[in-house]
Order: sequence, then structure tokens, then C-alpha cells
Amino acid sequence: MNSFRLLMIAIVTALALTFSGCPRESARPDVSIGIREQPTAGLGVVDIPSDGPSSAFTGDRAMEHTRALAEEIGPRLMPSDALDAATKYVSEQLIDLGLAPEQALYDLPDGTAAANIIAVIPGISEQERVLACHLDTVAECPGANDDASGAGAMLELAEMLVGTEFPLSVRLCFFTAEEALEGADEHGYSSAQYMKSLNPDQIGRMAAVCWLDKIAAGSSLKVLYIADARSSVALELGQLAHSRDLKPTVTGADRWSEEMAFEDYDIPTAWVEWGPASELHSPGDDMRNVAREKLVAIGDLIHTWLTEEPSE
Ligand SMILES: [Zn+2]
Repeated sequence: MNSFRLLMIAIVTALALTFSGCPRESARPDVSIGIREQPTAGLGVVDIPSDGPSSAFTGDRAMEHTRALAEEIGPRLMPSDALDAATKYVSEQLIDLGLAPEQALYDLPDGTAAANIIAVIPGISEQERVLACHLDTVAECPGANDDASGAGAMLELAEMLVGTEFPLSVRLCFFTAEEALEGADEHGYSSAQYMKSLNPDQIGRMAAVCWLDKIAAGSSLKVLYIADARSSVALELGQLAHSRDLKPTVTGADRWSEEMAFEDYDIPTAWVEWGPASELHSPGDDMRNVAREKLVAIGDLIHTWLTEEPSE
């Protein structure tokens, strides 16, 4: 083990101690979505050598996919023909890469069926890192940043990973009813339905989850996690982002408005985004709201994360 690795482990351990101020057994506040800003303790003062660029996430393909979803297809309300076109588009892209996307069916609150699109890229281990995004939008919103950008990045990452060797398998989850849905209590309906459909073995293979949601607009990089759940993946990604001088804020939230599906099964989860998100849920969330360099910064960060050995 080299000294850099030891240093990283020491820092991650120190951060874990810093962030463990909220006792695990304390009752989780219900549906408050108050964000507790936590300082990036120590992140600013520790001099970590940069790994330098380690992949060729150019953003070319990610931008193309983001444009196809946001501009050519447009607003993708669940349910709608446009959202069906989006799931078809994503499935075809995955098939073109030689993957076998699954249409994971679930019931909408009105009893009709819908499907998430799921694909696995096998790594050396059967244990998985999960990437998640959502294809649906609110009405009249092209959803370029929220969240065609996440889907676009995941498709470019898939193209980079297929045919290469990397430690943990990668499960790609393109969810389809994450925005507010008529008849559902909360955001995050389709991911919650997906997790309910899995058996304990399938859930047990999920080592870590990273949501890519709103990754192309805003000035500050946020790595979010639930304050009273396991946050190892957020710390890992925070360190990685820091080593690239992306000046991340690693922030604990009491409960996210969406993206809780995996946390509810105690799977370490982070949510990476640029904030504050401009044009959120508005007609202005079109391609003019997508900054390529922001997309590339996160795409490249996630590629490195996916190709590294887990830290523990
Ligand atoms: Zn979103």
C-alpha cells in the first residue's frame, strides 16, 4: 500500500469522525428536507496530490444524448409518449453498446404499468456500484439539466466502460417517475418501486450508489448524503473531487425530497450535483442551461470512481 493511499484512508477516517456528530440511533426526522450545511472540514487545508486526468470523458456523447432527450424529445411527463420515446432511446443506446437493458416493470398509483430501464456492465466482482438518474420531467420542462444531463453522462460512461476491466460491476438505473407523480405521496416513486421488486441477494450486491441529477448547471459542486446514514461513498467522492480541485461541499441532509430509495435499505448513497440549479422545473431548463465543462467534470470524476478499487 503506498503512502498516498494511506494518507487518503487517514483523511477519510478523520472526516468520518467529523461527520459522525449525529448519532446513528437518533430518530430520523420525518420528511423535513432541511439541509445542514457542514463545512468541508479539513478538505481545504490538506494538500493532496492530484491524480491528473485519468480518462477520456470528453462530454461529446453525453451532450449528444442530453440534447436528444431534452430537445428532440422534450418534456417527459410520466406518463406520456415523450417519456416512452426517452426510455426507447436509452434502451437502444444500451443495446448498441452490447448491453441487455431490462424493462423493470412497476405499477403506477393508478394501477397502470410503467418501466424503469436497468442495465448491468459486469466488472471483476459481482458486487455493484449503482449509478442512478431519472428520465422524467415536470410538465412543460425540457429537463436538460434535470435530469437529461445525468442520463447523458451515464450513457457516455457506459460506452467508456464496456469492454474494459474495472473492479465492481456497474448497475445503471434510468428511473422514470422520480418527479412528483399524481397519486403518489412523495418524489422518488419509481426508484422506491424498483427496490421493492428486488430480492435480498440483489440488494446485497449493491455496495454503493451515486445519483447523477442536475449535473450541468450551477457554480458549486455538492456531494450530498443523509446525515444519519452511512456516508462512506460521499466521503470517497468528496475526496476525489477535492483532489481535482473541484472544491466540493460534502453536505448532510436530513432527508432528500427524492433519491431516498437506496438509503432506505442502508446502502451507502451519495448524490452529486452542481448547485444552485438554475431554471429548475421551468421551460428554461433547455440546452442553453447545460454547461459542457460542468458535465465533463462530473463525468470524469465518476469514471475515476468506477474504475478504482473500493477504499475499504
Ligand atoms: Zn432531478
